[in-house]
Amino acid sequence: MTVELAVIADDITGACDVAAGVSGAGLDAEVRIGVPGAAPPSDAACVIVALKSRTAPVTSAVDESVAAARVLRGWGARRIYQKYCSTFDSTDAGNIGPVADALLAELAPGAVSIGTPATPAARRTMHRGHLFVGDRLLSESSLAQHPLTPMRDPDIVRVLGRQTSFLVASVPIERVHQGPAAIRAQVEALRARGVRHVLLDAIDDADLDAAAAALLDVDPGTVLPGGAAGLAVALARRLGSDAASPVRHAPDGLPLILSGSASERTRAQVAAHDGPVFVLDVDALAADADGPIAEAVDFVASASAVPLVSATADPARIRRTQERWGAVRAASLVEGALARIAAQAVEHHGIRRILVAGGETSGAIAAELGVATLRVRRVIAPGVAWTTATDAGGRALDLCFKSGNFGHEQLFVDAWEES
Ligand code: ADP
Repeated sequence: MTVELAVIADDITGACDVAAGVSGAGLDAEVRIGVPGAAPPSDAACVIVALKSRTAPVTSAVDESVAAARVLRGWGARRIYQKYCSTFDSTDAGNIGPVADALLAELAPGAVSIGTPATPAARRTMHRGHLFVGDRLLSESSLAQHPLTPMRDPDIVRVLGRQTSFLVASVPIERVHQGPAAIRAQVEALRARGVRHVLLDAIDDADLDAAAAALLDVDPGTVLPGGAAGLAVALARRLGSDAASPVRHAPDGLPLILSGSASERTRAQVAAHDGPVFVLDVDALAADADGPIAEAVDFVASASAVPLVSATADPARIRRTQERWGAVRAASLVEGALARIAAQAVEHHGIRRILVAGGETSGAIAAELGVATLRVRRVIAPGVAWTTATDAGGRALDLCFKSGNFGHEQLFVDAWEES
């Protein structure tokens, strides 16, 4: 089967977000974790490569993204899409800009990137190049407090401009409302002025549909489409079929929730969880990680309801922890611990269904479990899906990798219900 849409995602929850959305739009999707080495899928029109490159050193983010693009192109993928976060999570060093520059260099000379983080279904909208989260500017949302990528500038043209030496410009909403031909004409005018990265305003799905139509009407060798799940799903709406997705059942086995996200929505989901909770303490992990990990695994093994192991904390507590241990060390202690707990719970205690909160956290856990491929089984909230996977030991697992700010407040309670 031809791969109509290939996506290179900078984290695993972003990949699952796209997979959930494009499946709903009628394009069967497969997530490959890490740069794919094996053969192309025989029955998926959309392949999403999940990297862990959002906060990686710039050179490894670039190298892995380019390596993935070359594999995907070798499979004959018709279009490659650069997927980043709908809140443009990045730092002044990157990695969105450097990865876009490198992927452009793989295309024809003079190629441009065209994209938008806008995802109206998740209440992310772009206006005048400024990104909104719900009713607030990005910089006034909880994303300004993110532990690794605090977003304090809402002007995405300026943010991306700091990450690339190429010119960046945006297409205003009035032009987007004029439709695909007007968008294409504006992009051509910008290209003629030397602009290489074009960001599109979008406030509803019709805007994304217009952008998708504009993108599908140009030579795929001359543009790099990119953005968050919104535009990828709009592309899938045009490329997908009406055929119903196959029904996939959950494997038998015990459930577990692991939370390493500090996002506002995850904090509410942790508070609403009605089962037993084990709180991971970063100070204790720094002193001797083996002790708290063993305690957490014992807690999981003896739980009588869905157990939650959580490092989730409020911004003041995260700040104190980061001041003591450094943000990178604190994050790696938490991610390493949750990953080892997951692997031991699967290996020794019959855990087969795991809901993970947090993008970086999910990447660490997938790597420790040795999972290579995910197929969407059931979408449970916008951008959140149970997926079928096989771990390094050949065990069938049911995994849900949820971005920190995704899902309704009761998600940890009702995610387990099968309809
Ligand atoms: P999100 O999807 O909400 O952005 P991530 O997992 O991507 O979640 O990022 C949250 C980061 O914060 C992770 O790297 C995690 O290890 C780190 N973290 C989680 N809890 C704590 C804590 N209590 N102290 C310090 N860092 C933490």
